Amino acid sequence: MQFGNMAGEVLLLGGSARLNGSNSMELLCLNCRHIAKLPDVSGKAMTTQPKEKIMTIKFREWELIVDRDLTKLTYDKVTMGSPESCGCNDCKNFADNRENIYPEEIKKLFYDIGIDYKKESEICHYCRQSDGLHYYGGWFHFKGHFKGKDCTVPTGKNGYTFDLTPLSDKFSIGFRYDSALTFFDDKENLVQIEFDTKTSWTIEKELESE
Ligand SMILES: [Zn+2]
Repeated sequence: MQFGNMAGEVLLLGGSARLNGSNSMELLCLNCRHIAKLPDVSGKAMTTQPKEKIMTIKFREWELIVDRDLTKLTYDKVTMGSPESCGCNDCKNFADNRENIYPEEIKKLFYDIGIDYKKESEICHYCRQSDGLHYYGGWFHFKGHFKGKDCTVPTGKNGYTFDLTPLSDKFSIGFRYDSALTFFDDKENLVQIEFDTKTSWTIEKELESE
């Protein structure tokens, strides 16, 4: 069922907008005769598209311009993140430590952006450090763009590395434009949030990797 102004598909009741006392408008679908009520159309032409809800979020040195609705909708549809869908020992250990891995300011930032921090697009286990902590990296996406430092550092013809910004001695973050393994259907205008972290091995000791 579609509502809109496409000729032949939809007509306005009575040949024009029928406003009732609460300023809602009713549309009749010619296909199924369903009547849809559109709330609060007072003073607005029917051809006006709803304004996209783009939010600007200040985070440290960055300004993030975010389509929160689309970002949250996208993460809501994802059943599990990369660590859970992979299920290897390194991923299991990451998931076991997840609540402590993300600083509170990151959990709040991701909530504001519409990202579910339990659903990483991908994580990578780099190594077990000499201090016994395990070094991981990973990333998320949101729809929008950002102002401020891009963490991409080109290293040659096709290579690049990251210059991430430490938020603590165990967690660093950066922003760049990419869409690797993204949950978003439309890969345009995606910001890739890169992070790395150092965390303990807390699952069975005999499963620990180097
Ligand atoms: Zn894995």
